[in-house]
Amino acid sequence: MARTSTEEDPDEAWVVALAAAVGGAPEAGVGVGDDAAVLDAAGHVVTTDTMVEGVHWDDRLSPADVGFKLVAVNVSDVGAMGGRPQWATLAASVPTPMDRAWLSAFAEGLQAGLRRWGTRLVGGDTTRSPGPRVFSLTVGGQAPRPVLRSGARPGDHVWVTGALGRSAEAFLAPAPGPEAMAWLRRPLPPVALGAALADAGLVHAMLDLSDGLARDLGRLCRASGVGARVDPASLPGGRPLVQAVAFGEDYELCFAAPPAASDAICSLAAMYGVSVSCVGTFTPSPELVLIGHPAWPAPAFDHFPRGPA
Ligand SMILES: [Mg+2]
Repeated sequence: MARTSTEEDPDEAWVVALAAAVGGAPEAGVGVGDDAAVLDAAGHVVTTDTMVEGVHWDDRLSPADVGFKLVAVNVSDVGAMGGRPQWATLAASVPTPMDRAWLSAFAEGLQAGLRRWGTRLVGGDTTRSPGPRVFSLTVGGQAPRPVLRSGARPGDHVWVTGALGRSAEAFLAPAPGPEAMAWLRRPLPPVALGAALADAGLVHAMLDLSDGLARDLGRLCRASGVGARVDPASLPGGRPLVQAVAFGEDYELCFAAPPAASDAICSLAAMYGVSVSCVGTFTPSPELVLIGHPAWPAPAFDHFPRGPA
């Protein structure tokens, strides 16, 4: 059986060290390390995601796609907290002279994303960049019953929404299909379903899949102090295992829920037009097991490159 350590994650360790150095998490809620920070008892949440040209996109994305995707990756984190996005601020760093046609197409995509998820741009800042274009969006919203990564219990089922590995196919396959390319360019995270699952009290823990099921489920397990057994035959999307679990940019939800909630979860997901799949079970022992496989596939993409150790 495949096992992966649930103890190491250099990204996580770095973020925690940074938070400690600058004074830590807000007192009222959950700070660093979840999909978004919970600011207060009213469930105000805030998150930031950055896209760097050449790291997070290349010429497979149009400028409008970049604007749309910047919204999508941020609202995905708000939905993963069980929240609804409300407002956003944008920090843009662009080379001079400014390419106005590029920027106006970017703005069009940004606006389409904001409109889709009912989010208002309330401010921002633009600076000159000596290097690539860099866009950072901060999104705030409200999660009346925030769902953290830390609530999974042994015996809970592991659920995922949608299909896994579409962006992976777009990156890795020699001739990716149109569905894969569309998801790479304009992912559609099931934000409203995340909020509805939280409101209904059906889930114990949740996150969005940005770095692949292997890494992200590992994070959820570590935060919850549990392990999980995943059945590869149940992973939705029908793509090769490496694409389904070891790439990322899925922007689907992964959540923990008690078996008794299964019917209610399926009904709610159907109401929102989102498919859901039960792919495994959480266990008391801390390993992440991929049933029938000697090892989890090695990560196929790391959008947070690290230099030599
Ligand atoms: Mg996330």
